[in-house]
Amino acid sequence: MNRKYRTTVIAGNWKMNKTPSEVKGYAEELRSILGSRVKWCDIVICAPFVDLPMAVRSFRDLKVGVGAQNVSQFPSGAYTGEVSVGMLKDAGVKYVIIGHSERRQYFAETDESVNAKVLAALEAGLQPIVCVGESLDQRDRGLTLDFVSCQVKAALCGVAPEKARKVIFAYEPIWAIGTGRTATSEQAEEVCRHIRTIVRGLYGARTARATSVLYGGSMNDQNAFELLAQPDIDGGLIGGASLVPAKFAAIVNAANQE
Ligand code: PEP
Repeated sequence: MNRKYRTTVIAGNWKMNKTPSEVKGYAEELRSILGSRVKWCDIVICAPFVDLPMAVRSFRDLKVGVGAQNVSQFPSGAYTGEVSVGMLKDAGVKYVIIGHSERRQYFAETDESVNAKVLAALEAGLQPIVCVGESLDQRDRGLTLDFVSCQVKAALCGVAPEKARKVIFAYEPIWAIGTGRTATSEQAEEVCRHIRTIVRGLYGARTARATSVLYGGSMNDQNAFELLAQPDIDGGLIGGASLVPAKFAAIVNAANQE
C-alpha cells in the first residue's frame, strides 16, 4: 500500500449470495465490529442487483460504498435482463466490478465488452473495479505478465487521461479464486507492479502512482496483512471471506496498518 499517493480499497464481492433481507443484519454486525474508528481505506460491498437499494440504505452511515458486480454497456433499451449505469447511479451505487473471471468464463464476457462497460461506467461517474488475471495453465507457461498486459490495455482502450485514475484494477489469478490457494505476496506484488507499469506507459507516472491496484484470490484474515504490506498492492477484492462480517472486518483492520 502507498496511502500517500493512492486510495487503499477493501472491496467485498458477495457474488450470488445473500438476499435483500439479509443485508441489514450483515451491516449491523459489521458496524458492531468496526465501530466508528477512523478507517484508512475505502470499504466497498459489491452485492447482487436486487440487494443494492437495501445495501445503499444499510451501509450509508458506516461509510461503506456499494458496488454492483456487473453492468450493461448499453445506456437503455431492448436488452432484457440487463441493468444500466444510469439505473445503478440512480440507486446510489458508486462502484461496479467489471470483467470478473466468472463473468468472462461463464457469461462470455470479452475484453471488448469489458472495455465498453468501463467506458460506460466512467461516463456515468461510476468507479469501475476491473478484474484481470491469468489461468494456471497460462502461469505455468510463463504467460502471466503478457496476458495481464493485454487485458489491462484492452480495458483502458479509449479511456481519456483525466478519467484513467478512476479505474481500479483487481489482479485476480483465476487459480486463486475460491480455491483457498492464495498467490504468494511476491507473486501478487509482481503482477500488481506490472499493472502499474502498463498504466504508466499509457498515461504517465502521475496517473500510475494514483491508480489503486487490488489483489483478489482467497484473501482472508490470515494472509491479508502480508499481502497489503506490499508496495504495489493497494487493497483487496474479497469473495468468500467477505460473506462473514467478522472476517471482512479483520481484513479492513489489516488495511489499517501503518
Ligand atoms: C472474487 O470473487 O473476486 C474472489 C477473490 O473470491 P475469493 O476471495 O473467494 O477467492
